Amino acid sequence: MGKLMGFLEYERCLPPDRDPLERLKDWDEIHGALPLDSQLEQAGRCMYCGVPFCHSGIAIKGTPTGCPLGNLIPEWNDLLYRQEWDAAVDRLLRTISFPEFTGRVCPALCEGACTCGIHQPMVTIRQNELTLIEHAFETGHMQPYIPETRTGKRVAVIGSGPAGLACANRLNQFGHSVTVFERADRLGGLLMYGIPNMKLDKQIVDRRIELMRAEGIEFVVNAHIGVNHSAEGLLSEYDALVLCCGSTTPRNLNILGREGPGVVYAVDYLTQNTKHLLDASHPLPPEMNAKGKHVVIIGGGDTGTDCVGTALRQGCKSVHQLEIMPRPAEERTEQNPWPEYPRILKTDYAQEEAIAKYGDDPRQYLINAREIERDDKGAVRAIITDDIRWAKGADGRLSPQPVEGKSRKWPADLVLIAMGFTGPEETLVDAFGLPRDARANVAAVNYRTERKGVFVAGDMHSGQSLVVRAMNEGQEAAAACDQYLKQL
Ligand SMILES: Cc1cc2nc3c(=O)[nH]c(=O)nc-3n(C[C@H](O)[C@H](O)[C@H](O)COP(=O)(O)OP(=O)(O)OC[C@H]3O[C@@H](n4cnc5c(N)ncnc54)[C@H](O)[C@@H]3O)c2cc1C
Ligand code: SF4
Repeated sequence: MGKLMGFLEYERCLPPDRDPLERLKDWDEIHGALPLDSQLEQAGRCMYCGVPFCHSGIAIKGTPTGCPLGNLIPEWNDLLYRQEWDAAVDRLLRTISFPEFTGRVCPALCEGACTCGIHQPMVTIRQNELTLIEHAFETGHMQPYIPETRTGKRVAVIGSGPAGLACANRLNQFGHSVTVFERADRLGGLLMYGIPNMKLDKQIVDRRIELMRAEGIEFVVNAHIGVNHSAEGLLSEYDALVLCCGSTTPRNLNILGREGPGVVYAVDYLTQNTKHLLDASHPLPPEMNAKGKHVVIIGGGDTGTDCVGTALRQGCKSVHQLEIMPRPAEERTEQNPWPEYPRILKTDYAQEEAIAKYGDDPRQYLINAREIERDDKGAVRAIITDDIRWAKGADGRLSPQPVEGKSRKWPADLVLIAMGFTGPEETLVDAFGLPRDARANVAAVNYRTERKGVFVAGDMHSGQSLVVRAMNEGQEAAAACDQYLKQL
């Protein structure tokens, strides 16, 4: 159980991030590491609670809390504290395929449900997870796991994001022969082209893929199934298909001035920037470069935050992030008690950087974009917004209402739309004739679609979500697919 009374003896402590102004000079990861002794003390704060919620993965009032993968957190915290490294990482890897990704980018749904958090700062679960897996890589513990026997069954996984990779990993461990098809030129989905390098170094993604290759998984890039590769053809070549193509249709902003240069989807902007960083031969398209520009980002979520960090590193003149929702509370409210995930104001890495550079938080709340103003050559000049309040209409529903006389004009040369995603693209959904559910995602029962032998997982099935949830879906779909293959 870690250190008896460890949570009283040691204070919660995270590794310090690099200095915000210094880290703006490069694209390296922002997080540091604690000295080993201090990190072990952090593991010792976990009290192996009688009823731990951290690993419960439940939904309260429709919002997930606790680890969706059911990670055996108290068990590996204890093993980490006692420095039983191999046992600890093996316990970790029982439930999670790639802790090196979640250890860097997971919002740590587990920590919101940590019992310590009722009256004390919660245990540093995510950092403990990262410490364990990085130690395992550094010490050579992470060797390829090659199944002793092969089943003779062949599975094609389409899409190489966290869902596709986790699914392929598990199917391979079950002994099936797995090929992953990816339309991009690199593997990893949003882990590669989406989440920026500052949060997840791309070498970490490549390191895992190399291990998976050594374990026998085949990868095919530049394979856009349904476009340059026949979808139906795969069905005859393979015993089963698992579709893990993400929720990639961005939500648009239908306002005056939207069409034309200077208004770009956030995910395209982030993708082009990463590609440029990785390929010296790939020039950054001028419309994707914020250097010397006033940048306005529509959307206050994590994608918008990644755009702030990227625009700052590109050398923007100013950056603002506009959000239609109210500013969250600083502390948990009575409506948001433990063990719910805390819906509180978080000042993320990129906002910290903007504050360090300009002295102001780039986020502006309760604002609705009304019009993008262009000059006579069609270039974006400004964005006009209304301050809003949320009011109940005749149907009892809350909707944003403009506050009279409170319109504002923000100088803008580049507008980035970071308003989420509306669902999977049509290509494969139509190619296989798959029905969609009420939220426009691919409908399935226990990951089985209506087409025999075709499974679906990740954001394509559940909507745009989190790496940890996509990974969980990939693992569960692999189990469902394995059951199906056993019956063939
Ligand atoms: C900018 C951004 C930042 C984010 N940051 C975080 C974060 O910090 N933490 C977090 O937990 N979550 C984050 N998320 C969410 C998280 O990245 C996603 O929920 C997760 O990646 C979904 O995984 P997936 O495997 O279902 O899909 P994706 O990661 O979207 O992967 C789908 C893959 O399928 C490929 N594909 C699509 N169609 C085809 C086809 N027809 N043929 C072949 N390949 C195809 C795509 O090219 C892509 O590589 C972020 C999302 C975005 C957009
Ligand atoms: S995957 Fe995320 S929620 Fe699960 S233990 Fe790790 S940090 Fe916590």
